[in-house]
Amino acid sequence: MKKLLSILALTLLLCSTIVTAQTQKDIIEAIEKEGNGNSQLEQLAYELMDLNGPRLVGTPEMKTAHDWAINTYKKWGISAENQQWGTWKGWQRGITHVDMVSPRIASLHATQLAWNPSTDNKGVTASLITLPILADSLAFVKWLPSVKGKIVMVSMLQPTGRPDENWEEYATKESFEKMKSERDSLEKIWRQNISNTGYTSRNINAAFEKAGAVGIAQSRWSEGFGANKIFSAGTEKIPAVDISLEDYGMLYRMVEHGANPQIKIVAESKDLGKVPTFNTIATIPGTEFPDEYVILSAHFDSWDGATGATDNGTGTITMLEAARILKKVYPNPKRTILIGHWGSEEQGLNGSSSFVQDHPEIVAGVQAVFNQDNGTGRVVNLSGQGFLHAYDYLGRWLEAVPEKYKNEIETTFPGSPGRGGSDYASFVAAGAPAFSLSSLSWDYWNYTWHTNLDTYDKIVFDDVRNNAILTAILTYMACEDPEKTSREKAVLGINPRSGEKGEWPTPRTPERNGGQE
Ligand SMILES: [Zn+2]
Repeated sequence: MKKLLSILALTLLLCSTIVTAQTQKDIIEAIEKEGNGNSQLEQLAYELMDLNGPRLVGTPEMKTAHDWAINTYKKWGISAENQQWGTWKGWQRGITHVDMVSPRIASLHATQLAWNPSTDNKGVTASLITLPILADSLAFVKWLPSVKGKIVMVSMLQPTGRPDENWEEYATKESFEKMKSERDSLEKIWRQNISNTGYTSRNINAAFEKAGAVGIAQSRWSEGFGANKIFSAGTEKIPAVDISLEDYGMLYRMVEHGANPQIKIVAESKDLGKVPTFNTIATIPGTEFPDEYVILSAHFDSWDGATGATDNGTGTITMLEAARILKKVYPNPKRTILIGHWGSEEQGLNGSSSFVQDHPEIVAGVQAVFNQDNGTGRVVNLSGQGFLHAYDYLGRWLEAVPEKYKNEIETTFPGSPGRGGSDYASFVAAGAPAFSLSSLSWDYWNYTWHTNLDTYDKIVFDDVRNNAILTAILTYMACEDPEKTSREKAVLGINPRSGEKGEWPTPRTPERNGGQE
């Protein structure tokens, strides 16, 4: 009888394992089927990038994007809310129009920099001036009054508008080497010259403004055809615009040749005072361990030279799509699935570090955080972020992922803790197991990261589909895991730069009142 019972027990145990395996297989297949057969990625990308537009912190478009996210979740039966974490300088971009008006007419490719005040609608028309070679800060002080009434060109003239790959392909070895050494010496001279002024490239614009300059023209080339990085202005009252390498080079050469080009800048924008800033937080409540969390993480904000398609539209739609798929095929997760769309990552992980500060109980309950934030490519790198046992649980979860979604992933265990770069670092610093789903580059750094070219057409949807399915499966596995993940930290090695023993990063203090004077 006893033997019979134990056989029965064994059979039951086997059955339940088989049932679990069967359920697991079914759910993973259902995730794949939904993700591949009913993908919403193109629609989400259209609505977020094309229709809503860029999501610079403090702009009305940031707020409409948060509201869009809530409505999108609502349609899928997922509850979501906007949680305020601070305030920011409110600002809205308007029309920018920059034209050369003398000695001939040409409309220029140019954009007003973020948070720059408006010109009146007649704009500012003035001659341009470039920096002479300055021996020291005294020479700079002596020269400075000549910027009065002028628009100052504050970027170096690039010797080529072709990316290096293009030279590598077509130039003779000698001319490529010659161009590079010329460029190196120009850069050296430029840097030395700025340093001779006693200012840095960050604060020199304020000195020009104080000395009576009426505008700032810069060109921050991103080393790819047509690509410029578009950040914020360093002036309080006068217009500051970024001009394409091509137009900037033309103007610069004309100034140097004494052709005295004049440009007209119309750069309208609205100062909206102080506005609240948010994270959008969505949740699918856990049924067995509601106080334990698997967090899908992607910053929601962007710079605004384009529409933030790969930084971080792709991370955003990956997490939205993973949440949609999970709600459909795995509506009752064992642990709570929380989706965090963070604000103001670009100014220093402000939304996520506020969340970590404001919700210690959630941070304590983190099973895993999966963050994505480096472009549109397939996920190819996963580090254990210095968590000693990450190999065990991430390994277990990855095991369940079908080969085609993971066969390019290189893992590093235990790895070392991320100290910045994106929002997972806010959680890692607080000791919560948080990981970066790091993707293939697709020329991210030169072409799309913070550039005027970060637009819908750069999204590689099949790669994002791959990532949404991968994220959904990892989330499912993390929710189902019988064990809570270990937070034990690896002993960190010697930092090769400082020569000292590595220390775990400490949580950063968020900027909760940004852009205010
Ligand atoms: Zn980013």
